[in-house]
Amino acid sequence: MIAEKKFLKPATVSEALEAVQQHKDNFSFIAGGTDVMVNKFQGNHDASCLIDLSGIKELKQIILDQEYLKIGSAITLDELTKDPDVKKSVPVLIETARAIASPIIRKTATVGGNLLCDNRCIFYNQSEWWREAVGYCLKCDGDICIATGGKKNCFSKFVADLAVSLISLNASIEIVGPDDKYLLPLEEIYSGDGVNPHKFSKSSIIKSIRIPIHRQMRSVFKKLRQRETMEFSSLTTVTTIDQSGNIRIVLGGVDPRPVIIEGTDADDIQELIKKAVKKPRIVDNDVFSRLYRKEMIEVYLQHSFQELIS
Ligand SMILES: Cc1cc2nc3c(=O)[nH]c(=O)nc-3n(C[C@H](O)[C@H](O)[C@H](O)COP(=O)(O)OP(=O)(O)OC[C@H]3O[C@@H](n4cnc5c(N)ncnc54)[C@H](O)[C@@H]3O)c2cc1C
Repeated sequence: MIAEKKFLKPATVSEALEAVQQHKDNFSFIAGGTDVMVNKFQGNHDASCLIDLSGIKELKQIILDQEYLKIGSAITLDELTKDPDVKKSVPVLIETARAIASPIIRKTATVGGNLLCDNRCIFYNQSEWWREAVGYCLKCDGDICIATGGKKNCFSKFVADLAVSLISLNASIEIVGPDDKYLLPLEEIYSGDGVNPHKFSKSSIIKSIRIPIHRQMRSVFKKLRQRETMEFSSLTTVTTIDQSGNIRIVLGGVDPRPVIIEGTDADDIQELIKKAVKKPRIVDNDVFSRLYRKEMIEVYLQHSFQELIS
């Protein structure tokens, strides 16, 4: 029997949470749909009820005060790139958003959707018949990782570029669930397991993202990809230093979760770079080889520190 399909469009966060209670067995939130719908067409997403968050006004605000910049989760990437407060206080987010997908996709893709977009792997993001032909993989009902031949770990890549920048900027997220509301450092929602990369409760909504702009951070963003548009990350690095000399390097595209390396300007920068090259679990699951991506971490970080110092 074919399951009944539903598409709900709540006007408020409370309505959305009510809808969750009614459809908790098989639902998914959707915002811009640029990740959910692609995964659905490839047979990698099977929720029968979609709850659309894109019409909720309270998720569509950007607020700047003395200490924080607060970005609503349903702000589109295109809106983010045009916001004067974002431009003034965290220009790296504009550079990052412009490096995601294409101008048309950015018109609907949202900030919240980016934080929860699924991990990628060249052996997983394929059509149903392609995956069936190779016997599936750990991320989709198979019993072996095609990239490594291993039976235990899935190494699908974390590819949410905006999350890499936001973690480097020490961002927190405001979460609203059926019974609670709380703030969490963004990095804490990522599990490191390629099959289920988010530790985030399916019934909760990301309301906003808070960036501590009072720390006066400067960041450098770099992204390796096959073409300058439409391509997911093969390696993203964001290096941030704040006014007290705290350094936060974050890597995307090379491990099932964002990789964080912390230090200060009193540390030996070459040692920090060595740590960054060593830390990610890079495997051959991308168009660029594992070794090339590893070498590019060093290249990008050397350039990033030169730019930050100059
Ligand atoms: C061709 C193409 C290229 C792309 N290139 C890139 C790239 O280079 N870099 C990159 O980072 N991404 C890329 N993407 C992925 C995707 O478009 C973006 O990550 C986008 O920002 C996802 O946002 P969305 O609103 O469309 O998410 P959706 O597809 O609507 O949702 C994605 C996930 O987030 C959940 N969700 C959405 N909003 C909320 C919320 N407020 N609270 C709780 N859960 C929520 C949904 O349930 C779903 O699990 C690309 C996509 C395509 C199709």
